[in-house]
Amino acid sequence: MKNLLGGKGANLAEMNLIGVPVPPGFTITTEVCTIFNEKGQKAVTDLILNDVQKSVAHIEKLTGTQFGSKENPCLVSVRSGARASMPGMMDTILNLGINDDAVEGIAKKTNNPRFAWDSYRRFVQMYGDVVLGLKPHSKEDIDPFEEIIEQIKEERGIKQDTEFTVADLQSLVTKFKDAVLQKTGKKFPTDPWEQLWGAIFAVFDSWMNERAIIYRKLNNIPAEWGTAVNVQAMVFGNMGNNSATGVAFTRDASTGENIFNGEYLINAQGEDVVAGIRTPQEITLEGSRRWAKLQGVSEETRAAKYPSLEETMPEAYAQLMEIQHKLENHNRDMQDLEFTIQNGKLWLLQTRNGKRTGAAMVKMAVDMLNENFIDEKTALLRIEPNKLDELLHPVFDPEALHSATVIAKGLPASPGAATGQIVFFADEANKFERSVLVRIETSPEDLEGMVLAQGILTARGGMTSHAAVVARGMGKCCVSGAGSLRIDYKARTVETSGKVFSEGDWISLNGSTGEVFEGKVKTKEASIDKDFAKIMELSDKYTRMYVRTNADTPKDARIARNFGAKGIGLCRTEHMFFEGERIKAMREMILASDSEGRKKALKKLLPYQRNDFEGILEAMAGFGVTIRLLDPPLHEFVPHQQATQKELAEEMGISLEQIKIKVAELEEFNPMLGHRGCRLGISYPEITEMQSRAIIEAALNLKAKGIDARPEIMVPLVGTVAELKHQKDIILATAEKVFAERGTRIDFLVGTMIEVPRAALTAEGIAKEADFFSFGTNDLTQMTMGFSRDDAGKFLPTYLEQGILKQDPFQVLDQHGVGLLIDLAVTKGRSTKPNLKVGICGEHGGEPSSVEFCNRVGLDYVSCSPFRVPIARLAAAQANLKKN
Ligand code: PEP
Ligand code: MG
Repeated sequence: MKNLLGGKGANLAEMNLIGVPVPPGFTITTEVCTIFNEKGQKAVTDLILNDVQKSVAHIEKLTGTQFGSKENPCLVSVRSGARASMPGMMDTILNLGINDDAVEGIAKKTNNPRFAWDSYRRFVQMYGDVVLGLKPHSKEDIDPFEEIIEQIKEERGIKQDTEFTVADLQSLVTKFKDAVLQKTGKKFPTDPWEQLWGAIFAVFDSWMNERAIIYRKLNNIPAEWGTAVNVQAMVFGNMGNNSATGVAFTRDASTGENIFNGEYLINAQGEDVVAGIRTPQEITLEGSRRWAKLQGVSEETRAAKYPSLEETMPEAYAQLMEIQHKLENHNRDMQDLEFTIQNGKLWLLQTRNGKRTGAAMVKMAVDMLNENFIDEKTALLRIEPNKLDELLHPVFDPEALHSATVIAKGLPASPGAATGQIVFFADEANKFERSVLVRIETSPEDLEGMVLAQGILTARGGMTSHAAVVARGMGKCCVSGAGSLRIDYKARTVETSGKVFSEGDWISLNGSTGEVFEGKVKTKEASIDKDFAKIMELSDKYTRMYVRTNADTPKDARIARNFGAKGIGLCRTEHMFFEGERIKAMREMILASDSEGRKKALKKLLPYQRNDFEGILEAMAGFGVTIRLLDPPLHEFVPHQQATQKELAEEMGISLEQIKIKVAELEEFNPMLGHRGCRLGISYPEITEMQSRAIIEAALNLKAKGIDARPEIMVPLVGTVAELKHQKDIILATAEKVFAERGTRIDFLVGTMIEVPRAALTAEGIAKEADFFSFGTNDLTQMTMGFSRDDAGKFLPTYLEQGILKQDPFQVLDQHGVGLLIDLAVTKGRSTKPNLKVGICGEHGGEPSSVEFCNRVGLDYVSCSPFRVPIARLAAAQANLKKN
C-alpha cells in the first residue's frame, strides 16, 4: 500500500481501518505523480477530475460541511507523502477552501472571528508561498509575507503574532493578496476548487524541488517513486483553550526507554509546536516534571505556566494513551504521532515508525523481543547496521551540537567525535594534550602522530585514502577530503569559511557526518551494554559468513576479538616498518645497492617482525591470521626531507648525494601500478624469505608455549599463477628450512589476494597454487574502474553530483562491475578446489550492502577494521536472513 499511497496516506488509511479517529480525506496515488512528471497537468486533470470531485463530496458528507459554503464551509489540508519518509522535505498547505465568504461562515460557526481570520491569513501566506511562488529565493531575500507582518507589527507597536486584533488580521489578508497580485499579475484565487487543483499540482511539483532532490540523493530514494497527495478535512488545534496540537513518540527516540512522551501547545496549529515561537509543553506529567527539573523551573511555575496535557485535558490524554498503545501494537514498532484536539475531540493526523538514535534502536529491538512483541529475526532486521557505529565511538553531546558552527565539510572517513587543538605535523601531535592533526593528506610517515591525535582532518583524499583507512583501523575519528581547507604549512594556518585558524586553535570533527566545527564541542564516551551483546549473539545465530578483522597490531587484534572477530583477514605488514628503529633498517634495506646489503638490513628487521607476528598470532590464538607480504611501493618508506636524508646518509656511511639519487630512482609515474605487491618479492626474494621466516618462527615460538597459532601467508597483487608459484616456492622452501632448524613443524596456508582483474579472470588456474583467496576490493575497484585510489577525489564528487555514479565505488562495492569479477573468481576458484576458502579484506568488507553481496556469492567471511566488526556481523546475519 505504501508504494501507492505513500507512507502518510497508507498509515492514515490503516488508522482509519483499526478505529483510530482520523479526519476524513482521500489520497491521490504516487502513480499520478509519475504521470504528472511525464505528461503534465492536463493529463492528470483528465484522469482524476471525476474521482477528486467524488472524494470531496464524500468528505463534505462525513463532516456535514460544504466546499465554498458561506454558512458551513469545508476546509481541507493538502499534504505530500512519499513512499519513504522525507521529513520536512516537501510542502504542506492548510486551511484550503477558505475565502472572503467562508471566513465569515467560520467566524460565525465558531463564534471566534479572530480564529477565522487567523486561519485565513495563514492560508493566503502558505498558498502564496508554496503554490504561487512568493518566497525568498536566496538567503539574503526577505520573505514578502514576513515583511508585511513586520510592517503591521511596527505600525501597531506589537511584538507577537498573538497580539494581532481581528482588524490587523483582516488587513494582513488584504495586503497579502495585494502582494500576490503585484508579484504574479493575477488575483489570489477565491474559488476553493481552483485552490485545490493549484495545491495538488504544487505538491507534485515539490517532488522535484531542490530540497527534495538533495534529500533523495542523500537517502538513495529513486526519483521515479513520486509522491502521493493527501487531502484531508481540517481539524483545528487553534479554536481556543479547549483545542491543542502536538507530536508524540510511543517510546523515547533518544534512549529507547519504553516511555510515552511528546509535546503539545494549547490553542495552536501544526507548525507552532516545532517553530520555536512558544515553549511547547510536555504531554505526560512525568515528562513535564522531568523537563522542569532540567530547565530549573519550580513545580509551582511548571504547574501554572507549563502544565502537561495529562493535567490540562485529562480525557483527551486518556484517549491518546489508549491510541498510542493501539498504534504501537498494530505496527509492532515505535510510533511517531501527530495529533490535534479540536474542542476537546482528539484526532490523529499521522503515525509512522519513528526515527531513533543507534542506542534507542538497539534497546527498542531487544525490549520488544523480550516483550514478545517481535521475533528474533525481526529484531535483527530492525537494526540499521551502520547506526551501530554510534554505539562504538565517542559522540558529541547533542546539546553542545546545537550551538556549534560548521566551518568545513569533508567525507565521513572514520566515525566518532574528536575535539582538540590544531597541529599540522604528525611529529608534533603531542604538542597539546588533545590535538587534531590537520594535513593536506597523510602518508605512512604520519602514523605515529595519527595514533597520538584525537582526530585527523585532511584536505585531500577519499574514503580509501591513507588517512581514512588507517583511521578506521584505529577507530580514530577522521574527516578526509575537506576540499575547502587552504592549508599553509609554513605559516601553520588553515583557512576555511573565510576564517583563518592557527596551530593551537581548537576545532572539532564529526567523523560520522564529515562536519568540522569551530572550537571545542563537548563529547561523551560510548558504552556497550547487554542489549548490544544480545544483538550480536542473535547475529551469530543467524549468520552463515563469519567476520574477521583487518589489524596490524596485537592491540587492534584484541579490540576486534572483543567485538567478535574470528581471525584476521588482513595484516598489512608495511605498517610494522615505521616504528622507531625499524624504519632505519627498512630504509637501509631499500637503499642497499645489492642483495648482500639487503640481506644485512633484513637481518636487523627479522627480530622485529617475528616479535610483531608473535603478538598478533597470540592475540588471535585459535583463529586464522592472514599475514600479507610487503605490498606498497618502496618510495613510501624513504625519507623525502633533507634533514632525515642527511641523518640516514650518516648512518649508512654514504653521501647525501647518493641517498638523493636512490630516492629519485624510486620515484614512479604510477606507483600504484608500479613496483609493488608480489613484484617486490620477485625482484627481491630475500624480502619474502625474511617475512616468511619471521612468520613461521613466530608460530613455532608460540607453539612451544602451547599457543594455537594459525598463520596464513598471503601474496599480494598477483595477476598470473606464475607470480604466485614463484613466491609460494620461496615461502615453502623457507618454511622447510625453519622446520629443519627447529626440528618441529606447524600447519600453515599459502594464499593470494585477488585484486588484479586478471587474477579474477584466470582464477581457476590461480586456485591450483592457492589455499585461499582474499578479495582486495580496494585495488580491484581501482583497476577495474580505472580510477586511481589516490586521485579519484578530484572527479568522484562531480560524478556523484551528476548521477553518473550512484555511489562512491571505493565505499560501496560496485556489484554490477567489480562484483561480476568477484562472482566469477569464486566460481572459477571453486571449480578447481571446491573447498577453497574465500574472503574479502578490502574496505567494502564492513559496508552492509557489500556484505550482503559477499553472502550472495558464497564468500566464507568478510574482514573489516576492528570497529566495524559488530556492523559486519549484523550485516552478515541480515544478508543471510534476507537471502533465505
Ligand atoms: C585492497 O586492495 O583491497 C587491499 C585490502 O589492500 P590495500 O588496501 O592494502 O592495497
Ligand atoms: Mg591492495
